[in-house]
Amino acid sequence: MPCLSIDADRLIGRIQDLGRIGRGENGKLTRLAASDADKAGRDRLVDSMREAGLELRCDRVGNLFGVWREADVADLAPILVGSHIDTVIDAGVYDGCAGVLAGLEAIETLRGSGFKPARPIAVAAFTNEEGVRFAPDMLGSLAYVGGLTVEDALATIATDGAALGAELARIGYAGSDAPGFLRPHAYVELHIEQGPVLDREGLAIGAVEGVQGISWRRVTIEGVANHAGTTPMTMRRDAGRAAAQVIAHLHDHVAGSNAPSVATVGCIAFEPNAINVIPSRARFTVDLRDPDERRLRRMEAALDGFLDRLAVAEGVSIAVERLARFEPVAFDPRIVALIEDVAKRRGLTSKRMTLGAGHDAQMLARICPAAMIFVPSVGGISHNPNEFTRVADLAAGADVLLDVVTRLAGA
Ligand SMILES: [Zn+2]
Repeated sequence: MPCLSIDADRLIGRIQDLGRIGRGENGKLTRLAASDADKAGRDRLVDSMREAGLELRCDRVGNLFGVWREADVADLAPILVGSHIDTVIDAGVYDGCAGVLAGLEAIETLRGSGFKPARPIAVAAFTNEEGVRFAPDMLGSLAYVGGLTVEDALATIATDGAALGAELARIGYAGSDAPGFLRPHAYVELHIEQGPVLDREGLAIGAVEGVQGISWRRVTIEGVANHAGTTPMTMRRDAGRAAAQVIAHLHDHVAGSNAPSVATVGCIAFEPNAINVIPSRARFTVDLRDPDERRLRRMEAALDGFLDRLAVAEGVSIAVERLARFEPVAFDPRIVALIEDVAKRRGLTSKRMTLGAGHDAQMLARICPAAMIFVPSVGGISHNPNEFTRVADLAAGADVLLDVVTRLAGA
């Protein structure tokens, strides 16, 4: 089979075109979910999906789909590609939009080539991925996989007081399909990296293996306040010193582990917080992340054990609250390997990566084999008008997406 390639001019043209929609008088790009600007962006996407000859579908939470469904394979589970087109405030033009429009580009290229898919192929734009106007983020894809009921999703209240259901109806994107109506055979999402790794290492493609698990805790250490001048060092019950030992221990334990684990104490407060008083209380957060659930549990257990020993050694009491806990998500190893393989066949460099930020693909992974393709972000800048991905990098990523879809939808 001759090597097909996407139309890079058409792709970048559409990204720039969509990026002109939702600019305020100050020229800043803001297309918050279910806003007037989002409606205008959706209308443009719908026009492009129609031009590409796709069947348009919209589900009850506003997730938008363009479906290529040949009659002889119409009933089979589709290959789904996509991302989101809602943005943060004062956004760049690539985050999300690059994935939706690269997906559309891949489908349009395949249709134009005479390719006969063995199953339908569809492109999705999920509602409220960014979570700026409505919480939680990734709301549309969460509802799509059954993690949030339609009723709860539509009752979600925006930061400006409006309900999502009413806003979707107002902008004309309250569809009739039940979320999940297309049960994908597989889901593949292209996204800009939003981090510096590919750009810094001069690599073309990230084959994303999964999402880090996250454990957030708040630790409160109670000691005894006392005079900084008159209390001998051996007679102190110093909450501040105990907290410092936790920070140092976390760093040494994690940095010395040889695993991709990370640990951060990002927030700390002492009481009474005075220059001449030994702290009676230290309260701080711990953020632990790891792509492997068993290792994340071991990190949590190791921290608990350290805190128990520390309480005895320092004569302090220690309380731990769990603030948030998300298990890691593993993407489909066959699709990850396929991404690497097609990149290699095109002479592109690639690297396996783990997600540090949330994406719709982690929701879709609950219902079907899923994976992501990253393309470089110059300087790792994102959620910022200076977000930039080179045309050649975008085109290379879209070609990889095209090849992956071709293989997944092949006979
Ligand atoms: Zn995004």
